[in-house]
Amino acid sequence: MKIEDLTKEFIQIRHFLHENAELGFKEFKTSAFIKEKLIEYGFSVINVGTSLIASMKKNTSTKKIALRADMDALLIKEKNTFSYSAKGDVMHACGHDGHSASLLMAAKYLAQSNFDGTLILIFQAAEECVDENGLSGAQNLVNSKIYQDLNADFIFGYHNMPSMQMPNNKELFFLKKGVMMAGCLSYECEFIGVGGHSSQPNLCKNPINSLAKFISKINEIKLKNSVLSVVGVSSDSKAYNIISSSASCKISIRILNNDDALILQDSLKQIAKTLQDEDEITIKLNCIENIPATVNCDKAQEFAFNVACEIFGKDKCTQNHEHLMGSEDFSSFLLKTSGAYAFINNSNSANLHTSKYDYNDDILELAAKYYISLVLKYLKP
Ligand SMILES: [Zn+2]
Ligand SMILES: [Zn+2]
Repeated sequence: MKIEDLTKEFIQIRHFLHENAELGFKEFKTSAFIKEKLIEYGFSVINVGTSLIASMKKNTSTKKIALRADMDALLIKEKNTFSYSAKGDVMHACGHDGHSASLLMAAKYLAQSNFDGTLILIFQAAEECVDENGLSGAQNLVNSKIYQDLNADFIFGYHNMPSMQMPNNKELFFLKKGVMMAGCLSYECEFIGVGGHSSQPNLCKNPINSLAKFISKINEIKLKNSVLSVVGVSSDSKAYNIISSSASCKISIRILNNDDALILQDSLKQIAKTLQDEDEITIKLNCIENIPATVNCDKAQEFAFNVACEIFGKDKCTQNHEHLMGSEDFSSFLLKTSGAYAFINNSNSANLHTSKYDYNDDILELAAKYYISLVLKYLKP
């Protein structure tokens, strides 16, 4: 069987996934559909929530390679008018339908190929959101015993990327040494004081005054490779003659170095503790999400780049580009398993996370070939 013989079938599967887009942690139909196909191809499949971990061992080698695709969509009403446009108010505006379809295509081909070792396929839930514990789909998987016991040598994944985000329109494939994408921390900070009549501030512990001092102090934290933004403030104030008893602010932090996350978290805690004591109020720092920076391992990225040069053509691949300030929870796998994350040019499409986005069917076959080649080269019989 030639890889190209599968392309039409998997473009149709991509369209089916697109039409039936589901939100993170709720990919029930998507996950069931993919699971059924994987079992049909001969993989062993285990569910971790709606995420799937599939594996297949051939011959005797103890080598193990993992490939990952995400499956979730976004709460955006699609404005494209394709025959396969999303049925509901949720759409694949990040192209995860293409990630899943291309990995499934590779799965079908590899199941019929000869390799020596263990192939692990991860169809991951919820790249775009976190659960009530503040953990994304990848973080839930990485914490699971099933993933830890697999102990893969390497893990690889990719994201489709509009050409406006690529180094230039000519490049089809991009990855780099070290940090590919920023990490992201989100905090909701609550200030609980004592409210009262606005004519008697001396009888109150005004949480808004403490909040103002807090914002001023955290804006003084300067780390070379990070940015901190206060993105929203609110209070329960309803009238001019009432001092609120509570106030809050939302903070977004982007980091390029995972050690910076710890430094920033400590600084926030220290500033909050000092203010809490000085102003005699209560400050609660609620970490909503903590996605690490995506940092490629040198060996894995070199291997992936050489594979990509064969698939996409040497002149269509680059390692020469800046990191992106967006975040990606593939980073959590990279904290446990050596690996590399890459971008594949989606051409001159609408931007990600917009109602006109669509994964480009022209890259599906190339992406599947990239996955296939990574496996056949690493688990060479
Ligand atoms: Zn996204
Ligand atoms: Zn995405």
